[in-house]
Parts: sequence; C-alpha cells; structure tokens
Amino acid sequence: MMTNRLISACLSTLFLLGALSFPASPVFGQVDVETATIEVRPKPGEGIWSLLRRSGVEPTTASIAEFKSLNAGKLRNGIELRRDVTYRVPSRSLHVPLFGAEYATVPLKSDQLKGHVYYIVGGHGGPDPGTLGKYDGKTIPEDEIAYDTALRLARELMIDGATVYVVVQDPDDGIRDDRYLPVDRDEVYMGNRTIVLNQASRLRTRAAIINKLYAEHRKTAKSQQVISLHVDSYGMKAEPQVDVHFIVGSRSGKSLAQAIRSTVEEKYRYYQPDRGYEGQIKMRNLMILRETKPTAILIELGNIRHKGDQHRLIKPSNRQTLAEWIKEGLSRQATGQGV
Ligand SMILES: [Zn+2]
Repeated sequence: MMTNRLISACLSTLFLLGALSFPASPVFGQVDVETATIEVRPKPGEGIWSLLRRSGVEPTTASIAEFKSLNAGKLRNGIELRRDVTYRVPSRSLHVPLFGAEYATVPLKSDQLKGHVYYIVGGHGGPDPGTLGKYDGKTIPEDEIAYDTALRLARELMIDGATVYVVVQDPDDGIRDDRYLPVDRDEVYMGNRTIVLNQASRLRTRAAIINKLYAEHRKTAKSQQVISLHVDSYGMKAEPQVDVHFIVGSRSGKSLAQAIRSTVEEKYRYYQPDRGYEGQIKMRNLMILRETKPTAILIELGNIRHKGDQHRLIKPSNRQTLAEWIKEGLSRQATGQGV
C-alpha cells in the first residue's frame, strides 16, 4: 500500500491534486490521496481488461500499464493472466475528511466525469439555517437537510472522477445517517470564509469564490456547473407538497434541469409506478443564478413545512437516493445522454 499524503493549508495548494490527475478535493484542512491495491484471482479465460472492470477499475491505457508494472513477472508472455496466480489491482481512492469518518474514503470507480467541474452548494448555512420545519416536536432546519444531501451528491460525483467543490462546508458534520439533524451555525464557505447574514453580501462572496475557480478551470474543463440545493416553504395557508423541482435562469440551466428531471421521473416510474411525479422547471431571474459564471441551477428537494416532504427527507436513505438520482442526471448531461 502506498500513500501520498498531501497536506494543504490553503486553497491554492489544492491544485496539486489536479496535477496528479486526481479530482481536487477542495476541503480546508487536510486532504489525503491514497493509492491502494487489492488482490484478485482471475476467472477462467479472463483477460486483464475484464479483470480490471470486475474490480471496479476502468481499463484505460494508464490503468493497464499500471497493472502490468504491479504484476511484472506474473504474466504469461507479459500479457496473459494465469489462473493459479493472485494479481494486484490498482484501486484509487480519495480521502475526504469533510464527508465524516464513515464516508471519508471515496473510491474512484470511473473516469466518466473527468474534466467536469461541479460547485455543490447546500443552501443557507452559517448564521442562516434557512426555513425551519417542525416534525415530531423537533425543529428541522432546511440548511442541514440541504447540506447532508449536498455532501452525498458531491461524493457520488467524485466517485466517477468529477472535480467537485463543496462550496458551503461544515467542519464537524460529515454525511450523517441520522433522521434529525440539529441546527448549528458553524458552516463556512470553502477557504474558511465566514457566511454573513446579509444576503447580498453573502451571494457576492459565494459568486467570487466560484467565479475565481471558474476562470482557473475555464481552459481545461469540459463543463462547469453550480448546483444549489434547498428545501424551502411557500408561505401559503396550506403548504403544498413539492416534488423535486428546479429553478433556472438560463437556457443552459434549463437543459441541465431537464436532464435531472427526466432522470428523477424515470426512477419514480420504475421504483414507485403508482406515485406519479410532478416536478417542475421554473425560469426565474434570481441574483443567485445570475451572479455565477458557470451554468447554475437551484434544486428544491421538497417543502420543509409539508409533512409528506418532511417524512421523505428526514430519512437518510432517501437523501442518498436523491443524491444518486441527481448525480445520474448530471452524468447523462455530461456524457451527452441528456434530453
Ligand atoms: Zn432555501
């Protein structure tokens, strides 16, 4: 096992990770990149390509070359696998403490999203918990549900090789498999920048962080997108139940939202055929969507004041599923399989 430990004290050094062709893990504090190997025995008739695939490693020229050098002397004619031999397979993973102890190890399973840059924003945070809901006598803050889902989404994107920036960060709350996520105020923007209460000034800071990175990635990125997650309420007498819906401010945002929306619709049709799905895409001229240079969309995961949505969103497994569906929609868009 070989470990390259990179300690980054400030954001600029995080791009070291990019230079090593790992997706950057933009967390403040310590970032470790680990390269581990696993041991695998070939199946009858199996070649290197399929052995790598089966072990969760995309068979590329680089990974095949790495496999050959790890197993020098164990291959017949330098290329064929022998059935009676155990081979070492390179398995890359990231270590991202921001995700918490249970989820800090992020296996890199594919390069499918390599070159695609995502800015994931859990809505609100710091002094602003967002909208508050009440469930079972407990307060449910919007920002905590949005943050937990945001971390899950970020992790899913990293697994497929995307470069991901988690824009709002909480130093001590990783991904939490808990139903009740209590209110706290210690979230900051990446780079350890304070989230202030004043909305205009907060959005300016957020946009400045994202736009600076956008400029740095502009020449090499295949795409750059801002995904902001929320669970708002609607200020009506009878709060409506809200299916995952989208607020966009541009044509590119609309197309991105359509790719995610159709993925979510497909999933519901498959897993809960009687449920129906009413998610909408609304075009609005919001500062939050305008200020950032990458395509930006806002996803409303539900209504924090509606019992049905609360019930759906306090379950950690549902937040995970949502994150996976959103990731799949983003992947389809990135790989040209969107709508
Ligand atoms: Zn919100």
